[in-house]
Amino acid sequence: MNITLPDGSIRELAQGSTGLDLANDIGPGLAKAAVAVVVNGSQMDLCDPIETDSEVSIITINSNDGLEIMRHTLTAQVLARAIKNLYPTAKLAIGPTIEDGFYYDFATETAISSDDLPKIENEMRNIIASGDLINKSLNTKKDAIKAFKSKKEEYKIAIINESEQADDFQIYQQGDSDFIDLCRGPHLPSLEHIGAFKLTKVAGAYWRGKSENEMLTRIYGTAWNNDKDLAAYLNRMEEAEKRDHRKLGKEMDLFHFQDEAPGMVFWHPNGWTIYRELQNFVRKRLVDNGYVEINTPQVIDRKLWEASGHWDKYRENMFITEIDEEHANEKRINALKPMNCPGHVQIYNQGIKSYRDLPLKFAEFGSCHRYEPSGTMHGLMRVRAFTQDDGHIFCTEDQIESETGLFIKFLSSVYADLGFKSFDIKLSTRPQMRVGSDEIWDKAELALETAIKNLGYPYKIDEGDGAFYGPKLDFVLTDAIGRDWQCGTFQLDFNLAERLDAEYVGEDGKKHIPVMIHRAILGSFERFIGILIENYAGKLPLWLAPRQVVIASITSDVNSYVNEVASLLKELNVRVETDTRNEKISYKVREHSTSKVPVIMVIGKKEMEERTISIRRLGSNENTSYSLNDIVEQIAQESKDSSNIQEL
Ligand code: ZN
Repeated sequence: MNITLPDGSIRELAQGSTGLDLANDIGPGLAKAAVAVVVNGSQMDLCDPIETDSEVSIITINSNDGLEIMRHTLTAQVLARAIKNLYPTAKLAIGPTIEDGFYYDFATETAISSDDLPKIENEMRNIIASGDLINKSLNTKKDAIKAFKSKKEEYKIAIINESEQADDFQIYQQGDSDFIDLCRGPHLPSLEHIGAFKLTKVAGAYWRGKSENEMLTRIYGTAWNNDKDLAAYLNRMEEAEKRDHRKLGKEMDLFHFQDEAPGMVFWHPNGWTIYRELQNFVRKRLVDNGYVEINTPQVIDRKLWEASGHWDKYRENMFITEIDEEHANEKRINALKPMNCPGHVQIYNQGIKSYRDLPLKFAEFGSCHRYEPSGTMHGLMRVRAFTQDDGHIFCTEDQIESETGLFIKFLSSVYADLGFKSFDIKLSTRPQMRVGSDEIWDKAELALETAIKNLGYPYKIDEGDGAFYGPKLDFVLTDAIGRDWQCGTFQLDFNLAERLDAEYVGEDGKKHIPVMIHRAILGSFERFIGILIENYAGKLPLWLAPRQVVIASITSDVNSYVNEVASLLKELNVRVETDTRNEKISYKVREHSTSKVPVIMVIGKKEMEERTISIRRLGSNENTSYSLNDIVEQIAQESKDSSNIQEL
């Protein structure tokens, strides 16, 4: 049979040859690094026979796929085996990989806590030291159930019973140990390929994620190819913990959550100041970029959501309200809007639109509610009530390319001003199930791609990952510690305008349906503020800082001068507070530094006599002296300058 390699070259191998045979045929170096194969697009174990002419690529341990397989083997084989060695009556549930690592869920008779992790890691090291080969057997449903029955693994039996498969259940085992696990694979061919790992935490998790089921123990871990990568990851995590917006949000007195409104933010004065400043910044930029701001109702009758298709597809995530409408026989059922799009079409539909009106760009700081399961919520990063910097562009097919270019320029300038110099673009193209003709998809995908190319940005294509109603661009930021955040989106829609009867009169005098583009730059204000706080580790640029200046007195004799300086700054709209408490100056400086005040003015007798001000900038240990008149002007200017981003 013929094996086609990624470079297009063809090798002839005997039918039934394995990925390992192929790797050996290519060279001993490759055979040593090989851990699995991709045959016609599907990952397989290195020992699986290849039966027909195929396109094959070898996965090596040092690739991303290789690392993923290593993490998978580490959890499903090594961690699970270690648990069975240490807790023989433990029952195995599931053990998938996750971003940067893995977890495994078990039921154990004795509780496992984080204190037990070193012991479990040790046992894992002992197992890895054996360098056991990993073997696989294929079993019928009956045999697979029998194998796990003898081990009293009831979760595995439940998984097998629920499977629609009749046979080919893969059971993996290591060397001559009697440990077995059910798995789709692939796994490493041997434990020798395992790199550096660490177990990170223990948590509770319900079997199948349902709260009516029993609580299992979940052990999380991370794994990397070598110690250096592991150390870098652990460092990143430590840094992320220090920057956690929930922790900084408390220290800076920005917001809180409480049980009566899960996933909805109570913004404190300081946090709300950041919110408003960011919103004013975006509002100004929207105007500069040709958008008109609108506002649409929060609570809208289900009839509109039925017409838009949301009632059918998105009902589970919508907050529903019922009201006894006066004189009506039945209750009126409404939904809190989960998105703003249908409302924008209602405004578009007022009056006849001509091609001369297009592109028409509506923007709304749209407050949306979406029901998210309680386990998925995470501070400001994932909430149930949020405000999008939403906008919809109604345009003709011929305007897609120019609108794409304008949007990317707009987005890149906003990101740059907020301190994010680089972002990645992902283009998602047509999926199997879709609306719209191939002609419009061809045209739209080409327009998106051409616009990105013309601006010279690199991009990645995600084949088939577009929505059923149109291709889209996603924009992913990288923050100061190298984490990625998907924020911006530019989503073409060939469906909604037609569904909701939006049209325009074309140059030909006939009616046409506009292309609708959903777009956002920040995504939601809530999440973006979380990202900003973490990116800056709370040290926000002066224009965004809720308390820009605190004037602290060294002695009470200078209070009149402190108040004079404060009123000068207030007149120039600087957000300033005074601290004339009877406390040591070092105490005051420390306190205001912790709450991340960017400018601390220190005033003593000397400053008052000389009409100067001593300034301590956040992050510096030095005070610099300025004359009063100069510095008041300078700070006032700096505090309004949103292009003034300090280097991190
Ligand atoms: Zn939309």
